[in-house]
Amino acid sequence: MTKINENYLNLQGSYLFAEVAKRTAAYKAANLTQEVISLGIGDVSQPLVPAVVDAMKKACDEMGQPGTFRGYGPYEGYDFLRKAIAKYDYQARGVNIAEDEIFVSDGAKSDVANFQELFSVHSRVALQDPVYPVYLDTNVMAGRSGRFENGQFKNIIYLPCTSENNFSPDLPQEHADLVYLCSPNNPTGSVMSREELKKWVDWALEHKAVILYDSAYEAFIREENVPHSIFEVEGAEKCAVEFRSFSKTAGFTGTRCAYCVVPKALEIYDDLGNAHKANALWMRRQSTKFNGVPYIIQRGAEAVYSEEGLRQTKEIIDGYLANARVIYSALKETGLEVFGGQNAPYIWLKTPQGMNSWQFFDYMLEKLQIVGTPGSGFGHSGEGYFRLTAFNTAELTQKAAQRILNLK
Ligand code: PLP
Repeated sequence: MTKINENYLNLQGSYLFAEVAKRTAAYKAANLTQEVISLGIGDVSQPLVPAVVDAMKKACDEMGQPGTFRGYGPYEGYDFLRKAIAKYDYQARGVNIAEDEIFVSDGAKSDVANFQELFSVHSRVALQDPVYPVYLDTNVMAGRSGRFENGQFKNIIYLPCTSENNFSPDLPQEHADLVYLCSPNNPTGSVMSREELKKWVDWALEHKAVILYDSAYEAFIREENVPHSIFEVEGAEKCAVEFRSFSKTAGFTGTRCAYCVVPKALEIYDDLGNAHKANALWMRRQSTKFNGVPYIIQRGAEAVYSEEGLRQTKEIIDGYLANARVIYSALKETGLEVFGGQNAPYIWLKTPQGMNSWQFFDYMLEKLQIVGTPGSGFGHSGEGYFRLTAFNTAELTQKAAQRILNLK
């Protein structure tokens, strides 16, 4: 009898998007003439920019010629892309990250999911609540969560992020070894300030803890004082790993390319207290389990940093941020409590009149024919909140905003 990995039985069903799809389909079937607008999508709607497409076409031609064909690439990514990332995303901002600290991958999802493998199964994990569900589920799979009781896992340290603390997590009251921080945040759309990041870095250094910093939405940061990287904070190179992605930055959700930064100064410890370099361990892991991102895709990602690529991708993100402003202002005008949307594609709102997240979902669908995502699906502390996204087209976003204004 082949036995199951019991940790998988501990996973809580992710009914969120399935339930959203089910209720939306039922409504559409019963109301055939109504146009339903989705402000629930977490995927981009705009195509790849010309600079990226041209670079990929050129790389495609190279792959068809004997002199320039390439087979397996380096596990950690081609030098041309790692150099461009180090130069434009870090050194240009005065952050001292070298190309051998950068690992190119097929997605921030894979990276944030896989990185926990480097740590002991006994590590205590802390995470923001609500948050992107992958951090929690992968630690459940790995056996770090303990039992699920009264809506939470016993061994996970939840860091509530609500309007009471301005969606900024307080330091854990008990010992934690690993902390996941996501800024700009999915789903709350909030960002961590330099002071907040410094507080976390100082805490991690003091406790010899590691911060897993997900900044997949970094390209949406527009406010001057908001840090773009945790490595802008002194000492972070000794306690943090950073995850970034071309998915939302350049429309690569289907194309797949991302990277993580594992500084050479980051050390983790064995049972005897001996230090080991996380950078070398991650290289060992990747070279065993991953065969790299396709050459064509990496050439496309490199083109994001060309003059044209930077301009074209910025224009698209500006468009999404304009959508975010349109939704944010319409919600505000109706008197709702609204958050996020300034440095992120997510708008987070407090459900009115004591409605829970799912009641508000039904209300929005039935009254306005707008689909959003119930906050409770992102964690316990997301109850009573609702997420809208800025990824739809400008035209449909305007239309949705008009319907929201009719709520007044
Ligand atoms: N991290 C966060 C916070 C996300 O919201 C997402 C995607 O929705 C990802 C990571 C995954 O990004 P990728 O497409 O690079 O796998």
